[in-house]
Amino acid sequence: MFDNLSDRLGGVFDRLRGRGALSEQDVRDAMREVRVALLEADVALPVARRFIDAVTERAIGQDVLRSVTPGQQVVKIVNDELVDMLGGTEVEGLKLDARPPVVIMMVGLQGSGKTTTTAKLAKLIREKHGKKAMMASLDVNRPAAQEQLKVLGEQVDVATLPIVAGQQPVDIARRAMESARLQAFDVLLLDTAGRLHVDEALMAEMKAVAGVSAPTEVLLVVDSLTGQDAVNVAQSFSGEVPLTGVVLTRMDGDARGGAALSMRHVTGKPIKFAGTGEKLDAIEAFDPKRVAGRILGMGDVVSLVEKAAQTIKEEDAEALAKRMAKGQFDLNDLRTQLRQMQQMGGLGMLAGMLPGMKKAKAALAASDMDDKVLLHMDAIIGSMTAKERARPELMNAKRKKRVAAGSGTQVQDVNKVLKMHQEMSRAMKQIKKMGGLKGLGALFG
Ligand code: GDP
Repeated sequence: MFDNLSDRLGGVFDRLRGRGALSEQDVRDAMREVRVALLEADVALPVARRFIDAVTERAIGQDVLRSVTPGQQVVKIVNDELVDMLGGTEVEGLKLDARPPVVIMMVGLQGSGKTTTTAKLAKLIREKHGKKAMMASLDVNRPAAQEQLKVLGEQVDVATLPIVAGQQPVDIARRAMESARLQAFDVLLLDTAGRLHVDEALMAEMKAVAGVSAPTEVLLVVDSLTGQDAVNVAQSFSGEVPLTGVVLTRMDGDARGGAALSMRHVTGKPIKFAGTGEKLDAIEAFDPKRVAGRILGMGDVVSLVEKAAQTIKEEDAEALAKRMAKGQFDLNDLRTQLRQMQQMGGLGMLAGMLPGMKKAKAALAASDMDDKVLLHMDAIIGSMTAKERARPELMNAKRKKRVAAGSGTQVQDVNKVLKMHQEMSRAMKQIKKMGGLKGLGALFG
């Protein structure tokens, strides 16, 4: 999978990573090579262009992190943009929680691997999701198609709709719905007919079938080996039927990867699964992060840069701690801290991360705060004047009332914020007494 592209990119980045410093020209030269590599991988031109622009802009405007080389940082940027190009950080699974029977309609051209993929998904739904599935073939054009699905059903231990000779696709779909309902199947997979080309008759049939079965998922099966043709087919289909996703088959044989890399950007449809072989378990949920990792083959560099970026965040927190330790802790600092907490994963992460927090945390736990409260507190501080934020002792009853009204909270909430600030400043003073930052250990223990 993606072997050629992987090799090409590997060469470019090996050269970049060796350097101590990178000039703008170095980045531009490297990106020119990446662009050629993408085009050779059969990536659509506008997609390649957008990718290069995004990477170049980020790589050139970038502050270089300490402890990684500029080249390593470029690898991370390329990785992130690849993930983006492949569909983002989410893995788009099947939506199976609608009212049963949830209908999954499979569409695609003949030979794309549609019937095989239907059986692969049915197996997955039975085994991984633990749902009761039934399959029905609506392919009345190809003589043995319905029989083929029946045989596959036996192999994956999933029921198929009994074949009634001479019935038309829309009628079969209706019968399948009825039968799935009566027998309480959770999921019904409809394997529709394929054609050699996209044509009007095919689209009309797809629309009619969708009309009677109200599918939750309409998955288009395309052969990744056909490269940009696969993307064009997806575009034609998505103009006619409401596709919810794409399955790319024969990824096991696809050394170039152009279809996978262009699909999302050109069609706007997520790739949900990748077929990776002829066997009935050769299917994978399409995970853009993992696929990008495979293409670049530089997972170690990516995680190194992620760690370095994390270290910088910790250093920021330390700088704040230092200011606090000097007794310079006002409501602005409290607000900064609240925001950091939110970034760091809310109150759950609070314990021991910042000086003074251990004590404050006990108070918080007692007041059964959840993460929404962080937002309220932020709003409360935001409703104060600059003067009040710098000198919390100014907050008298009248001011508290005003701030509560301004932030859509109660006076007691304002009091809680002020109390938290007091607790923390007291802790700061303690730190100072214990010998400044060196004494911090005591609080963490
Ligand atoms: P349909 O006409 O679209 O229903 O296509 P089929 O499901 O009959 O598949 C055509 C051929 O492609 C069969 O021989 C399958 O075994 C094969 N095939 C389907 N998916 C994959 C895949 O992901 N990888 C490989 N290597 N072969 C596949």
